[in-house]
Amino acid sequence: TLASSLGLKGRVILSRHGINGTLGGDLLDLKKYVKGLRLYAPFRGTDIKWSMGEALPDGTSALFPRLSVKVRDEIVTFGAPDELEVDDDGVVGGAPRLTPEELHALVEREDVVLLDGRNAVEAEIGRFKDAVVPGVEATHEFIDVLESGALDHLKDKTVVTYCTGGIRCEVLTPLMRSRGFTDLYQLDGGIARYGETFGDDGLWEGSMYVFDARDTVEFSDHTAVVGRCDHCGTPTKDVVDCADGGCVRQMVRCAACAALEHRCDRPR
Ligand SMILES: [Zn+2]
Ligand SMILES: [Zn+2]
Repeated sequence: TLASSLGLKGRVILSRHGINGTLGGDLLDLKKYVKGLRLYAPFRGTDIKWSMGEALPDGTSALFPRLSVKVRDEIVTFGAPDELEVDDDGVVGGAPRLTPEELHALVEREDVVLLDGRNAVEAEIGRFKDAVVPGVEATHEFIDVLESGALDHLKDKTVVTYCTGGIRCEVLTPLMRSRGFTDLYQLDGGIARYGETFGDDGLWEGSMYVFDARDTVEFSDHTAVVGRCDHCGTPTKDVVDCADGGCVRQMVRCAACAALEHRCDRPR
């Protein structure tokens, strides 16, 4: 692949709907990758977010153990590959996108509900003020939540969805629209772009969970710790993977408690 020929590491997922991924490596090699990616016409407008990472002594990224490029039915696993439609302009039926500045303007103008499009554990360590968190353990649970009626009280409200980089919302918002949510927006570029714009001095509180060796990203030197250890209640931003083989659960747990018990509390 293009990424492997440039010595990049990270994760890329392709589907018939598009491409999504995070790659790390030397800046020049990453720029070559972006150039190559954009040579392919459907990917010309691909949204790229840059951030500084750490390098190993050999110059490769310290954030990813290896390179994985996979073709899947879905870019993000909502379990609705056939419902999502994509045309030359992108996702069909997605909500209008708001820049961070536009989000602020909308919030000042009217009553807005911010809806967290991520998993519960991500929201536990960082979320927008007063956001509604659907409480899913995995993205594929979203459709059940939408169809359970649990969020029906939001159907006639102005709702802005957000996720880490905006990808999950691209899929989530058409799924919500077709289930009766009418006044819907999505935060363009997600928390990542919002954090670059307003840091911790806007509507965002806490750490942003990320799926690489950084674990979390903080947007300032005064990031609030909003997570609470699920065992002792101590403020923490540590998310740990359950050590039980086969269990994919994650929990917010402080280092002291995790040292004593590295498994979730789900009955075994
Ligand atoms: Zn604890
Ligand atoms: Zn577990």
